[in-house]
Amino acid sequence: MQHRIIVLGAGYTGAIAAGRLAKRLRREDVAITLVNAEPDFVERVRMHQLAAGQDLKPRPFSEMLAGTGVDLRLAKVTDVDVDARTVSVIDANGAEELAYDTLVYALGSGWNAQGVPGTAEHAYEIAGRPGALRLRERLAGLDAGQTVLVVGGGLTGLEAATEIAEARPDLDVALAAHGGLGDWLSAKGREHLRKVFGKLGITVHEHAAVTGVEADRVTTADGTAIPAAVTVWTTGFAVHPIAKATTLEVTGTGQIVVDGTMRSVSHPDVYAVGDAAMAMGPGGKPLRMSCASGTPAAWQAADAIAARLTGGKLPNTPIRYFNQCISLGRKEGLIQYVTADDRAVQAVLTGRLAAVYKELVCKGAAWGVANPTLGLPTRRRRVTRERAAAGSTVKAPA
Ligand SMILES: Cc1cc2nc3c(=O)[nH]c(=O)nc-3n(C[C@H](O)[C@H](O)[C@H](O)COP(=O)(O)OP(=O)(O)OC[C@H]3O[C@@H](n4cnc5c(N)ncnc54)[C@H](O)[C@@H]3O)c2cc1C
Repeated sequence: MQHRIIVLGAGYTGAIAAGRLAKRLRREDVAITLVNAEPDFVERVRMHQLAAGQDLKPRPFSEMLAGTGVDLRLAKVTDVDVDARTVSVIDANGAEELAYDTLVYALGSGWNAQGVPGTAEHAYEIAGRPGALRLRERLAGLDAGQTVLVVGGGLTGLEAATEIAEARPDLDVALAAHGGLGDWLSAKGREHLRKVFGKLGITVHEHAAVTGVEADRVTTADGTAIPAAVTVWTTGFAVHPIAKATTLEVTGTGQIVVDGTMRSVSHPDVYAVGDAAMAMGPGGKPLRMSCASGTPAAWQAADAIAARLTGGKLPNTPIRYFNQCISLGRKEGLIQYVTADDRAVQAVLTGRLAAVYKELVCKGAAWGVANPTLGLPTRRRRVTRERAAAGSTVKAPA
């Protein structure tokens, strides 16, 4: 009997976890199925580029996963029953139930409208490909001088505003930030950000909490109306509701609570990685939704599953941050170095070198999906029957 591992979601973390498991375990012992709604890998970190009119390199899974031993199932996940250990999926041929022994949940996240009135009707978003393509079409139809307002002064908002302003210098691009522009960055980082925003002619509305969105404007908490032909909403991500509908222990926002090996604290045969998981990072702070922490989390989960099934040593590498890599258009960037728990230090890298660095990071992230052991030698180990049985019942350590 093969041990059935199902990985839900083939974004950065799910695809890496599936590929790494296939490199760690003997093919005759396991059946690894990766379920994803789309046939190609979506580089989510480039959605602002897609929206701004750039064409992204197609990355079909048929090529990326060829010969890996991972079986791709193209279907939409509709439900998970973690007590019966089944996943419900639907594709063009209808609905089906898939049974698993070990589940890796990596369905990622979408945009977060945060309940602000008018966002669903009037705002655009770039958290995924459909949203980015919709914004791309809208931007292409705008006339010179029209205003594009990006709401959200976080990493995604900064990248979106600069990318659009660089691609469309004829538009009037603005950014509304809850706090000050880049206020979590070092002094040098903030200074560079202001310089680039100034060069690109981006208007910044600081300390602006947007409380309503209409077709041609947004309103802020103090009653100010900011005109906007297009509002781009980038105020964070929200996870899909599937996990919250299960008996898994989840946070109030629906992220699956996991231990240091990315194993669910309530269901030992379920692992969660990426945006869908709530794992603690250095300094007792939850890891933020990012590839920066999601990628090592996926390695950790795959290595932990492999260790538990084969009797190997459990991985125990703390997940830490090194830098925040921010593209500011194609010609400018900002690499803000950070502490292990993601706080800015003084050191930054700026300018064209930073843009090249960020481009290499994005390329490296996609390369890592196709090379989940980073090119290191494959070591496939034997799954033992007892371990496979115990793996599903032994409670995860605290
Ligand atoms: C514009 C933008 C820029 C970003 N820049 C950075 C950056 O510079 N650095 C960084 O670290 N992070 C960045 N991020 C965040 C990063 O992209 C996410 O944290 C990361 O993609 C999370 O990986 P994941 O595997 O959890 O989810 P995802 O990459 O979102 O993958 C989830 C997968 O699950 C699939 N899926 C979802 N629901 C279903 C379903 N019901 N059925 C079947 N399949 C489903 C999706 O199609 C997708 O393939 C950026 C995000 C955006 C939007």
